[in-house]
Amino acid sequence: MDRVLAVDLGGTWLRAALVDLRGGRILARQRCATPLGGPEPLLEAIDALIARLAAELADHGGDPIEPDLPIGLACPGPLDPDSGTTDGLPNLPGFADFPLAARVTSITGRYCRLHNDASLAALGEAWLGAGRGYDPLLYVTWSTGIGGGIVLDGRLFGGAKGLAGEIGHLVTQDGGPRCALGHAGCAEGIGSGSGIARRARARLAQPDGEGVALAVALREAGAAAPDAVDARMVSRAALAGDPTCRQLMREAARATGLALAGAVNLIDPARIVIGGGVARGSWSQLMPELQRSLAQSVLAWDRRAIDLVPAALGDDAGLLGAARLLALERGAA
Ligand SMILES: [Zn+2]
Repeated sequence: MDRVLAVDLGGTWLRAALVDLRGGRILARQRCATPLGGPEPLLEAIDALIARLAAELADHGGDPIEPDLPIGLACPGPLDPDSGTTDGLPNLPGFADFPLAARVTSITGRYCRLHNDASLAALGEAWLGAGRGYDPLLYVTWSTGIGGGIVLDGRLFGGAKGLAGEIGHLVTQDGGPRCALGHAGCAEGIGSGSGIARRARARLAQPDGEGVALAVALREAGAAAPDAVDARMVSRAALAGDPTCRQLMREAARATGLALAGAVNLIDPARIVIGGGVARGSWSQLMPELQRSLAQSVLAWDRRAIDLVPAALGDDAGLLGAARLLALERGAA
């Protein structure tokens, strides 16, 4: 087996690719807007994307996609990789306790292996990206949420239930703001894109002088209404000098840094790779405080020489990780 299919289920795009396992090259790719209407439209869209991949290959004179090529599927949200069951997907109805891998198999006729998107991005970065040659690797996706993955001896370390690497839910401030799953003070509630935005909106609702100044700063950063505030706008207002936004960004960096410190003390990674939109968009703004938090909390930080670098594969990390997972599973790597 030297080629596999990979599908990445994102909040905005559903993407599919045919991946050459020998060099990790993406031979063909297709995408469509993620169908929001529940499982059936999503399953049909996956099947249609694979048909489009086949048509694209035929147009370019490529080898046809063999009927037995398996599918690696990167998927957000809590899930059970062993049974291929999702436990609810963010913003998508109908996926609680849903046998997604089995249903993909029934509609496409292909074996399907499901795994968490952040874990697969870790595997992708370890295989071909910024984590290549560094083991163990700690990968973090700092985005709407904060997810992560650990690659150990070239393989994903999933833990007993495939849930290892969830560094976003490490508690960094006991009794602090809650994440979407209800944990008080976990890094995701404070430091994720949605956490930053939620906290800015809560501050806006306080009609004191600081709240008024914040409203003006966020309007200038592009927020037409309090509901429209997102982390990018908070970041922009912080760069423009608004003290509340600067503090929110500092606290986001600190919470994420402390969660990383906990993970570093536990697994002693050779490298930390950070991807995701929040990290990409605000890297230089976030890193000083994040590095400070790490230096304060990690055992022997000075002499560990762990480096911390941005992810290299962008949106392809999950697709490539899904392909790599299949290769490892089938002994083709
Ligand atoms: Zn949490």
